Amino acid sequence: MIQSKGYSASAATSPLAPIDFERRDPGKSDLVLELLYCGVCHSDIHYARNEWGHSRFPVVPGHEIIGRVTQIGDQVSNFKIGDLAGVGCVIDSCRTCPPCEDHEEHYCEKGVTMNYGSKERKDSKVISQGGYSTNYVVDSDYALHIPSTLNPEGVAPLLCAGITTWSPLRHWNVGPGMKVGVVGLGGLGHMGLKFAHAFGAEVTLFTTSAAKADDAKSLGADKVIISTDPEAMKSAHGFDFILDTVSAVHDINPYLSALKRSGTLCLVGLPEQQLAFKSSLVLRNKVISGSFIGGIKETQEMLDYCGEHNITADIELINIADINEAFDRVVKSDVKYRFVIDLATIKTG
Ligand code: NAP
Ligand code: ZN
Ligand code: ZN
Repeated sequence: MIQSKGYSASAATSPLAPIDFERRDPGKSDLVLELLYCGVCHSDIHYARNEWGHSRFPVVPGHEIIGRVTQIGDQVSNFKIGDLAGVGCVIDSCRTCPPCEDHEEHYCEKGVTMNYGSKERKDSKVISQGGYSTNYVVDSDYALHIPSTLNPEGVAPLLCAGITTWSPLRHWNVGPGMKVGVVGLGGLGHMGLKFAHAFGAEVTLFTTSAAKADDAKSLGADKVIISTDPEAMKSAHGFDFILDTVSAVHDINPYLSALKRSGTLCLVGLPEQQLAFKSSLVLRNKVISGSFIGGIKETQEMLDYCGEHNITADIELINIADINEAFDRVVKSDVKYRFVIDLATIKTG
């Protein structure tokens, strides 16, 4: 087993605290990474606080990981020692079911192995633990190459926030001539703005935080609508596509109203309770869809595109000792626009 140090939640109501734990032994196709940076996704908070009701404790969260390869198995040909590597939400899958064959491992029919909280496929006695830690063991087929031109701390959030917004924008063919909305300016939302703008759409941000309006414009929004202002919301109409990234229960009906005929509302936020919608949806052929992260191939395509177009996340780099304060600030929508942990601070304190 490999010894690791990290920060974990031992129960839904416990703050994160230091932990020593073990990872599975690396095999012939695996990489061992010394971790450098890890983004703080709102899903880490939902999970650490058991808001979805299926968390396994103790849990070391963190699925936006950048590390350096320190060891490779005999069969690894796509990475070498010293390379930077990324690890996102998906660390293994069955590889043979139809979604896996279609490069959609995240929809694996046998059950995807997630970065933390899953039984490891190569050692079912071990539960995977995430990237708020010093090292990681991952199959090289599920590791990502990091564009050398980008600052790695700004790349970390692309591994979840990036792919989770990229994938539905690509799936629904967002591009020039389309009127697109992004709801919520947090980690996902700010990447949604950057990508929708880069793809040539006219982009509107819907936000509850008036103070974020100026930032939204520099991140790629052409317009900003304050969603708590009913008059402003009434003026929103004719949208082809709206990407809703909100982390909490909220009313989606105003966004359905803002869609044009046959327009699509895509939900990527994962609030702990259900969202209700009115049946007036049927009158204008509208679509409600959902999207979950993305496959490994698509994640690499997104990273390569970011390398070519110089796109990274806007981050606040933090010391691991400040993680509990960071969690509280994310819940208060007070982050610009992703916290990233400098993992060297686990060793230095
Ligand atoms: P985040 O950084 O906290 O951003 C969420 C944003 O939602 C906030 O910044 C805020 O934006 C808005 N918001 C928060 N509470 C709200 C409320 N009560 N009413 C209206 N708006 C509210 O979170 P994130 O990391 O981007 O993640 C967003 C959600 O996506 C989470 O639920 C997360 O679990 C989920 N997620 C899903 C996937 C997937 O594969 N589908 C992947 C990653 C994350 P404003 O201040 O602009 O209003
Ligand atoms: Zn995430
Ligand atoms: Zn599969």
